[in-house]
Order: sequence, then C-alpha cells, then structure tokens
Amino acid sequence: RDSNLAKLRPILDRIAAQGVMNRIGGHDCPASNGATFANHSPVDESLICQVARGTAADIDAAAAAAKAAFPAWRDMEAAARKKILHKIADGIVARAEEIALAECWDTGQALRFMSKAALRGAENFRFFADKALSARDGQHLPSPTLMNITTRVPIGPVGVITPWNTPFMLSTWKIAPALAAGCTVVHKPAEFSPVTARILLEIAEDAGLPPGVWNLVNGLGEEAGRALTEHPDIKAIAFVGESKTGSMIMKQGADTLKRVHFELGGKNPVIVFDDADLDRALDAAIFMIYSLNGERCTSSSRLLVQSSIADDFTAKLVERVNRIKVGHPLDPATEVGPLIHKVHFDKVCSYFDVARADGAMIAAGGAALDQPGHYVRPTLFTGARADMRIAQEEIFGPVLTAIPFDTEDQALEIANGVAYGLTAYVWTNDLTRALRVTHALEAGMIWVNSENVRHLPTPFGGVKASGIGRDGGDWSFDFYMEQKHIGLAI
Ligand code: NAD
Repeated sequence: RDSNLAKLRPILDRIAAQGVMNRIGGHDCPASNGATFANHSPVDESLICQVARGTAADIDAAAAAAKAAFPAWRDMEAAARKKILHKIADGIVARAEEIALAECWDTGQALRFMSKAALRGAENFRFFADKALSARDGQHLPSPTLMNITTRVPIGPVGVITPWNTPFMLSTWKIAPALAAGCTVVHKPAEFSPVTARILLEIAEDAGLPPGVWNLVNGLGEEAGRALTEHPDIKAIAFVGESKTGSMIMKQGADTLKRVHFELGGKNPVIVFDDADLDRALDAAIFMIYSLNGERCTSSSRLLVQSSIADDFTAKLVERVNRIKVGHPLDPATEVGPLIHKVHFDKVCSYFDVARADGAMIAAGGAALDQPGHYVRPTLFTGARADMRIAQEEIFGPVLTAIPFDTEDQALEIANGVAYGLTAYVWTNDLTRALRVTHALEAGMIWVNSENVRHLPTPFGGVKASGIGRDGGDWSFDFYMEQKHIGLAI
C-alpha cells in the first residue's frame, strides 16, 4: 500500500495542479461561467481537484465541435480509424498503472479489480478497432425487379453519459464503438469520479485522434447532462446509470426525437438449487456481490437458495463474508474499499435499519467501519421475504439478501418478481432444469454454473427497468449507425 501511495502522489499532484477542465475541439476550457466543483476522495475525504462545472453553453460548444469534426471522421478510411483506435489501446496499456491508481483514489474501488478494469478498457478499444473494418457492411437482398442492397452509416455526433462505479472501463465500452462506427462524441462523465475520463481523452489525442472527434464536458447531471440530452445536434444518447435517470433522459430527449440506449440498474438473482456444485456456487455468489464494493450493475444482490440446503449454505456464507478484507483501496489485499460518496454511503447504511424494521436478520455485517472514509462491512441479510424493500430495491453496495425457496416455480416467481431484469445466475447440474429456468427468467443476460464472464462479441443489456438496447459485438453498431436501403431497378 505504501509503495502504491508513493506512486500515486505525483499523479495526484499533477491532477490537482491542472484541475479537470472541459476539453472541447482539442482545447482545455474552463466552464463558460468559470464555475467549478470540488472532487473529494472517498478514501479520506481529501480534496483531489477542482472540476469544471459545465453549462449548457459548454455543451453547445462541444456539440458544435463534434458536428464540425463529423464529416472528416465519418469519411476517413476504416483502416485509418482502426489504426488510431489500436494506438489508443496501446496508450491505455502504457498508462494502465496510473489509470488504476487514480481510479482507486477517485472511486474507492480496490486496486486488485481496477488494475484489470484498466486493461479491459484497452481490450474494448482493440475489439472495436478490429470491427471498424466491417462497420459499414450491408446485405444483398435481390427481388425480381430490384437489386436491393443495404449499408450502414454513422448516425452523427452522439452523447455519452457515464456513472461513477467503474468510470474508466465504462467510458471505453461506450466510446470505442462510437468512434469505430464513425461517430463523433461528447462525453459527460459522472460528477463523483471525473478523473480518469480526462486521462482517457489525453491518451486518445496523443494517439492521433483529430480535435473535436471526442469532446469532454464535466458537470452535474441536471445541468451539463440535461443540456446534452436536449441538444438538437446530438443524434443519440448512450447512457449508463440509474433507471430513474434513464426515464428522465427519455423525457428530456423527446423534443429532439433522440435515439437512446440505456444500461440501467439491477437486482439480479443468483439461484442455487440443491443439486448444484455448492462450493463453486458459494465462490461465485460471493464474488458477484462483494467484488467492486457491490457497486456493480451485474452484481448478484439476491441469493435465492433452495430450502433443503439453505441453512448449510448460508452458514458457510456467513463464515466467508466475515473474512472479506475491507480496507484501503491501494492495499493489494483489500477486497472491499470505501463507497464512492457520503450520500451513497448513507443510502447503503440506511438499508440496515430497513432490514431490521421489515423483520429480516442481519447474519453478517450491518454496520459501517468505525474509521474515516465511507467503509461498510460486507453484509448478509437472511430470513428475507421477496416483497421486502431489501429484496426489491437496488442497494448498490456490498449487501446480499438471501431468500429461501422450495420449488423451481417459486424460485422463478421470486426471481422475476422485481422491476429489474439485467442478469441472472443459475446453479444446477440438471441440464433440462437449466434450460427451463433460463427460458423463463426475465433477464437480458443469464449465466449457468458461472459468474459473469464477459465475452465482447455477445450482447450486453437488460430488460424491464434494467435498460433498452444492447451493447457488444455488432449490437453496438446497430445503435450508433443508421441502416440505409438502396433499390436499383434491374
Ligand atoms: P446516475 O443515474 O445518478 O448518474 C449517471 C450519470 O447520469 C451521471 O453522469 C450523472 O451526472 C448523469 N445524470 C444525472 N441526471 C441526469 C439528467 N437529468 N440528464 C442527463 N444526465 C444525468 O447513476 P450513478 O449513481 O452514477 O450510477 C449507478 C447506477 O448505474 C446504478 O443504478 C447502476 O446499476 C447503474 N449501472 C448500470 C450499468 C449497466 O450496464 N446496466 C453499469 C454500471 C452502472
């Protein structure tokens, strides 16, 4: 930890000296009215830097830069775009340690996970760099009288709005396919974690990305975010965040008929049947809620466990949860770091009282750590009913709610009985049951006998209140591009 802190110090000095400005058309710009806001670390509440508090005028300037840069970027040879995107990936790899350390300090996420997240950002760029060559591919659909062909063209300048939980990786995930498709971008990162978005854009410009192709406007959701979603020159909004914000964005974008792609919240079930490999199920259930501080959209925040094994399984779980190492995010041994912000910390802690009041038991955790910083003990609620708030609402912290079930039908009723539908995890060795259950589950992504293992060509996204649209593979291009049909009379 001390050596990581020593490496972080000069990085923080540089960030503090520069502040996090907006970057529009290749230039650093303060907010149009000079306003800033302070960005503090969740580790010890220390000031990291001042951040430009972008206004509608800044969004206007960024949209104008993105619009001006669009024709040349759209018309650039795909091979040239591919080359630049690979160079961005190289730049991320070269600065991966700096990115991981800064991300930990800005978000409170543990270094063991952020080191991987930085490299995953590079993979996202490489994957979409290679796909740039086929982005415009179309089909040949002849009729008796027409030679019908289809092609795809980039939709235009797009807005990308990202959350604070793993901000670097998520920014790459949304921006790399937009650039590969030939779109230009205005990015509005989360106000709680603005640091690595600025580093990412610096890397992109160093890699030769032309000015104006990617612009950055920091600020608050209700100000800069809102102005981006309402801007007439921004053709689509790719948004990752809370479901209620998605709903606001849909309304804000209505007047300009904005195309939207939403990756939203989750209350994902991990369903453990009594015939499963219980040791592996235990490992995966723990990983999927207590890694990334539980601040993870795909976390398995509900454990549905078959009654015949529930006591034994939860007893083992309690023992493991109590051993999870909570601590400083730069300590390589740390599994759970401080939560992002005091506001979020208070929200997560409020559920301890909610659980008690609703009659659930707190089998592990259920309290904050008695030290500065937003540290929460990994928590397990047992004896919960499916209609309790702890079983319905996204807590977004290292908090698991265990609910017993007797039959497969009951498990499905509980699993589907929430507003969300992002992921689900099923543990069973009965193949036909796995097929039945996955068929009936209301979720965009389901893993059987596995934790969430992301394969970039597969579709990523949720159903119900968890989102609209899919990312990954060619699905990202479907969002960032328009289909065009051309019929030639024979
Ligand atoms: P949030 O919705 O509060 O904020 C996300 C972004 O939206 C921020 O940049 C914010 O400034 C902006 N914003 C807020 N109000 C806005 C408005 N009116 N108009 C435009 N922009 C606005 O979300 P958060 O608290 O930062 O992130 C946590 C949430 O994100 C959780 O619900 C989590 O499940 C979700 N999430 C989903 C995925 C996924 O892939 N499904 C991935 C990560 C996080």
